[in-house]
Amino acid sequence: MTDSTPNAFTDFHLQPLGGQWRKGRADKTLTVSDPFNGETLVNIPQANRDDLDEAYQKAAQAQQEWAAQGPSVRAAVLLKVVEIFDRRREEIIDWIIRESGSTRLKAQIEWSSARSITLEAASFPKRVHGRIVESDVPGKESRVYRSPIGVIGVISPWNFPLHLTQRSLAPALALGNAVVIKPASDTPICGGLLLARIFEEAGLPSGVLSVVVGAGSEIGDAFVEHPIPGLITFTGSTPVGQNIARLAGGGKYLKHVALELGGNSPFVVMADADLNQAVNAAVMGKFLHQGQICMAVNRIIVEEDVYDDFAARFVERVRQLKVGDPSRAETVIGPIINKRQLEGLQQKVEQARQEGAKVLLEGNVDGQLLSPYVFGEVTRDMDIARNEIFGPLVGLLRARDEAHALELANDSEFGLSSAVFSGNIDRAVRFARQIKAGMTHVNDISVSDETNAPFGGEKNSGIGRFNGDWAIDEFTTDHWITVQHVPRHYPF
Ligand code: NAP
Ligand code: MG
Repeated sequence: MTDSTPNAFTDFHLQPLGGQWRKGRADKTLTVSDPFNGETLVNIPQANRDDLDEAYQKAAQAQQEWAAQGPSVRAAVLLKVVEIFDRRREEIIDWIIRESGSTRLKAQIEWSSARSITLEAASFPKRVHGRIVESDVPGKESRVYRSPIGVIGVISPWNFPLHLTQRSLAPALALGNAVVIKPASDTPICGGLLLARIFEEAGLPSGVLSVVVGAGSEIGDAFVEHPIPGLITFTGSTPVGQNIARLAGGGKYLKHVALELGGNSPFVVMADADLNQAVNAAVMGKFLHQGQICMAVNRIIVEEDVYDDFAARFVERVRQLKVGDPSRAETVIGPIINKRQLEGLQQKVEQARQEGAKVLLEGNVDGQLLSPYVFGEVTRDMDIARNEIFGPLVGLLRARDEAHALELANDSEFGLSSAVFSGNIDRAVRFARQIKAGMTHVNDISVSDETNAPFGGEKNSGIGRFNGDWAIDEFTTDHWITVQHVPRHYPF
């Protein structure tokens, strides 16, 4: 490992596997392309199960020495990563734009989120601590040691690949674990390979981090069921997450899981809300990254008295959003990640029409670009209200009153994020506390993530929390050790 590798951000056809950058040994090649113009970015020979096994084996060995490093040594690697993020900011942002079709604004936000969680994680080596607890047994000393879990498997999605990998990777490494990443096949660079280059440049010892590039449908089960990882952190869709939970619980080896899954965020506008502010927030919370965000506004629930007014102002704002080349600073809506997702969204538009939703704003398709659709008079049984949309379309639901708004907001299998707008804070907080979700924001957007606050969902949106103290808990485990200082008297 040298202090700075000049060509660190090239050669992405290679993967760091068990301590060495090399080609995967599967007989398949993954072509990674720019979602906006279709340009091929790299062809990656994929990893097979032997590569995966080698990565886990090497991680298990390397972990011990890494965990034995003093907290300052581990913190220093993370701080060096922050420095590299700063120094190579433009290069990183450029990769996010090209690989995931992110607008420049979204790429900047993602760079900033990934940087912040790294900085937060740099404090973890000195924040983690064990405890001495009381004991009823005479002469017994009762200690709780907090230890790394060992090896952690990280599976991440394509929408915020850099950040959603890093929010597991940085805390896991800071706390003395080794990591193997399986990035999404749409974004193996930002979701793994680029981070591995950065950590290598920052001085992370060889083998502590591996990246296996391969299709979830092919190596996913083996990745989860392997005997070595003690925790699988997964961010992605609910069905895949549920399958991972089944494998982690019902396979041969029981292991911890942290699951961050789909969402169906309600955005509730009370009649006493500041409507302009609510419209501004709904536009940002719905359309950032083309709506491809787990916390994105998925249902806009508006109290009857202000419904028409809100709808008119919202549609006017949405109509003006700039759709196009994501690298241009003024673009708000860039391309959909891939053809399959785009087709799925077109089907959703058709279904909304068929189910009787009223088209308030008509979008259109141009290449991979989908300009926004807004539907009115959406009811709770329609597909766009029931399911996660993950694209630039949205429906407005009418609520008779506050109680009805709450009933609609909670009428979902999901419970990730949510938002409520009202001029009366007490009322809004009372309302917020009755929403069954991991996160609710009063007078702000549902898309919100801060490195020291608990991020996660209820119901089918997941299990566990990321960030801050919650990450320290998630990426370590307790070991109760007692010492009997005086001989104990046993009853038989
Ligand atoms: P996805 O299809 O579930 O994929 C996520 C990851 O899982 C990818 O790396 C994928 O690999 C992998 N995978 C697929 N099948 C697998 C299997 N059988 N076993 C193991 N891994 C497997 O989700 P996505 O389409 O990328 O992302 C969209 C979803 O993620 C949405 O539902 C969104 O709400 C959710 N999400 C949640 C959060 C959160 O924090 N709660 C954040 C972002 C996104 P391949 O790419 O190779 O298939
Ligand atoms: Mg997928």
